[in-house]
Amino acid sequence: GAVALGLGLTACGSDSTEPAADGGDSTAEELLVGVAMPTETSERWIADGDAVKSQLEEAGYEVDLQFANDDIPRQQQQLDQMITNGADILIVASIDGTALATQLENAASKGIPVIAYDRLINGTEDVDFYVTFDNFQVGVQQAQSLLRGLGYLDENYEETGLDENKTIELFAGSPDDNNATFFYNGAMETLQPYFDDGRLTVGSGQTDFDTISTLRWDQAIAQKRMEDLITSTYDGGAKALDGVLSPFDGISRGVITALENAGYGSTLEEGLPIVSGQDADVASVKMINEGVQYATIFKDTRKLATQAAAAAEAFAAGEDPEPNDTESYDNGVKVVPSYLLESDIVVADNIQSLLIDSGYWTEAEVASGV
Ligand code: BGC
Repeated sequence: GAVALGLGLTACGSDSTEPAADGGDSTAEELLVGVAMPTETSERWIADGDAVKSQLEEAGYEVDLQFANDDIPRQQQQLDQMITNGADILIVASIDGTALATQLENAASKGIPVIAYDRLINGTEDVDFYVTFDNFQVGVQQAQSLLRGLGYLDENYEETGLDENKTIELFAGSPDDNNATFFYNGAMETLQPYFDDGRLTVGSGQTDFDTISTLRWDQAIAQKRMEDLITSTYDGGAKALDGVLSPFDGISRGVITALENAGYGSTLEEGLPIVSGQDADVASVKMINEGVQYATIFKDTRKLATQAAAAAEAFAAGEDPEPNDTESYDNGVKVVPSYLLESDIVVADNIQSLLIDSGYWTEAEVASGV
C-alpha cells in the first residue's frame, strides 16, 4: 500500500488514498511505480528497464519492473498484478499496442495515471502521456543511412548527385507495434524520390507494409524472409543486391546472416549489401565497427528513462507532464500528449563520439559485441 501525496492521485481516488498500513507519512518514497517492458530478447528493453528503475529509485519511488517475454497474456497479467499490488503510476512499453484496454480501464477506474513508454497504446482513452523518440524521423534516418551507404547522400546527408541505378529490399517491424508504421512511413517518404526517378528499385517488388513486416521484430523470421528473397529474386546470391532497409538491429543481423550464407561476403568490402538498423545493439555496433553492418540509429534509452521518470513525478505531484508534441500521436480515441526525443545515425566513424564518449558502450563492449 502506497501513500498518495499528489493532488492528482488523491483526487482521482486511487487505492493510494487509503491510509497506509505502515502508519504512513506521505512521502515520495512510498509511491509504487509499475514498469512493464515487452521482452528481454532485444537488449534495448533491458537497458530501458534498468534506467527507468534506477532513476525512479533515486528519486525515492518503489519500482516493480516486469518483462513479458513478448507474450501478450503475460503482459496483461503483469499489469493486473501491478494494479492489485497498489501501483500508483504505470509505465508501459506494450507488446501489442491494442491489447491492453481492459487493464488500462481498470487502472483509470482507480485513478492510476498511465504513461506509454516508447510504443503508443492504441484504442483507449486511458493513456495519459506518451514518452518516445520522434519515430517518423527515426524512419527518415534509417533511409538516409541506407542512401548514404549506397552513395546517394554524403556525410552531411546531402545529395551527391550519384546517377547510378541500384537494387534494394525493404523490411519493416512488427505490425502490432504502432512504431513500425511510423518508421516505415518516414523511410518510404525519404526513399520515394529515388523510386520515382528510377535510381532505386525494390528487386522483389515487395513494398507494402503488410508484405514486408516482421512479426515481433523476430530475427529468425527476418533471416527466413531474406533467404526466400535471395532464392526467388537474386538467383541464390548470383544477382546483385545493393542494400537492405532494416528497421531494427536484430532484423539486420538476420538479414546479414542470410546474405553471408548466400555468398555475398562477410564484410561490406567483400560485397555485403548496405544494411541499416536501429537501437545501437552492442552486437550490431561491433559489426558496424568491423565493416559488416553499415549503420544503426542510436536512441539514448537513458534520456527516455529520464522523461518517463519526469512524467511520473509530475503525475505524483498532481500535475500534468509537459508535452512537446500534441498532434502526432492519435491512438484512435484521442491524441495523446507526447514528449519526443531525437535520435542519431551511427556509422563506423561516429561510434566513438556518439556511443563510447557518452558512456553508452565501453570500447571493450564494442570490441567484444557483448
Ligand atoms: C522500438 C525500437 C525497437 C523495436 C524492437 C520498437 O518499438 O521503438 O527501438 O527496435 O521496437 O524492439
